Amino acid sequence: MTEPTHDEAHAGALGARLNWLRAAVLGANDGIVSTAGLVVGVAGATANRSTLFTAGLAGLLAGSMSMAAGEYVSVSTQRDSEKAALALERRELREQPEAELEELTQLLEERGLTREVAREAAEQLTERDALRAHARVELGIDPDELANPWHAAWASFLAFTVGALLPLLAIVLPPADWRVPVTVVSVLAALTLTGWSSARLGEAGPGRAMLRNVAGGALAMAVTYAAGLLLGAAGA
Ligand SMILES: [Zn+2]
Repeated sequence: MTEPTHDEAHAGALGARLNWLRAAVLGANDGIVSTAGLVVGVAGATANRSTLFTAGLAGLLAGSMSMAAGEYVSVSTQRDSEKAALALERRELREQPEAELEELTQLLEERGLTREVAREAAEQLTERDALRAHARVELGIDPDELANPWHAAWASFLAFTVGALLPLLAIVLPPADWRVPVTVVSVLAALTLTGWSSARLGEAGPGRAMLRNVAGGALAMAVTYAAGLLLGAAGA
């Protein structure tokens, strides 16, 4: 066990912020790809602007709400398990305070303090706010800053919506002949950017991530466009 350095302690807070940023980029990416696939597919079948707008807007709303609901459920579950862990900790502190003090002492020792200093620190932390000390040192969570499911849901909703707006506008704004080319080019450009950003935020090499991201989006649009053309030609 090595002592966490000053930089590592900061990396915790920074890491949390980067995770949010990465989730936002991925949410926007989802919004771009799924809405682009949808509107390009419909454009294969019809040139009617209001049909395209209706389909794109429905896709935007359905996708953003589905993302928000999924995020809400997953963060709520995480929050429940953190609350359960805190409740257990609270009970242990009440029922066996001496064992808990010893536990905290050992955890601090593992982080590089000498036995005496660890004991002294554990006593002071316990006196000030025992639950908070155990939550942070033992569980790695801050009881005052549990993840908020509503914030997470709202963030996903916004990220997806921002991404989805691009193909939606690109398919309805240009004149009929330009709709698909403008959408394809702007979507592939945006996917280059989101692929690059998510790779940078994840500290991976951006080249391949960009390529994969662009290829995925291009494939989605090609498949739905072909399906739309077939259905349109069949007069469906
Ligand atoms: Zn404990």
